[in-house]
Amino acid sequence: MATYLPGSRIEVVREIRRPARIRVALLDFDGTLSLIRGGWQTIMLELMVDVLRNAAPGEPQEALRAEAMRYIVELTGEPTIEQMRALSDAVARRGAEVESPEAYKERYLERLEGTIQGRVDALEAGTLAQDDLMVPGATGLLEELARRRIACCLASGTDHDQVVREAGILGIAHCFDAGVYGAVAAPSVFSKAQVLAELRQRYGLAGPDLLVVGDGPVEIVEGERVGAITVGVASDETHPGRLDADKRARLIAAGAALIVPDLTEQTQLWRYLESPAK
Ligand SMILES: [Mg+2]
Repeated sequence: MATYLPGSRIEVVREIRRPARIRVALLDFDGTLSLIRGGWQTIMLELMVDVLRNAAPGEPQEALRAEAMRYIVELTGEPTIEQMRALSDAVARRGAEVESPEAYKERYLERLEGTIQGRVDALEAGTLAQDDLMVPGATGLLEELARRRIACCLASGTDHDQVVREAGILGIAHCFDAGVYGAVAAPSVFSKAQVLAELRQRYGLAGPDLLVVGDGPVEIVEGERVGAITVGVASDETHPGRLDADKRARLIAAGAALIVPDLTEQTQLWRYLESPAK
């Protein structure tokens, strides 16, 4: 039986260790705050299935779909290139002609760019509002963090330039006084573990004075590893406000302390986070 905070959809998977004060928050971008790339999984899945079908014309399409889905889900939150590396390896294992992970990533981004640009155009034309392209309550969360003077850091597996651009489009770029981190081109490397380590050192964090909010297993696992308070956002990106049951299961498996379907219930969340330890 799931346990919820009174009068809310905030699920308490296990009690948190309470800090004297939360000082820093690390937030994921896509699926956690932004819906600009909503539906990226479908676009990546279609690309992977196309590639795998070419590499293995004899294999049943359903099996190829399941395999592609596994690469996408297990590597959500990692830089995109890691998912493309898994695809490249899968093609190579079949002895088919293989392209580099970078080339597959290029093809994926081309397909995704069309979707993103359509949304940006609609925003500029005024047919969509910024809030329509955000997880419900995202601006409310950022306001609560700012009100408490909690330093905010944005960390995303999406390319750095894109993250900066899209945070700007959504009007939230100024919220991240502790930095914006995104994937960078080789030979540089980026990982959320690295960002967390850097934040811990810069702010002298001890554990639960750090809040990690994300919809991917990666940031939750890394947050748990350093004793942070972890909030898993099991957001349904095609039906904002609804809970994605698969995401919830993955976030709980990753160790999330709290699960929310969106970010609308800020009062209940902060009452819990700031209540004295039992
Ligand atoms: Mg995400």
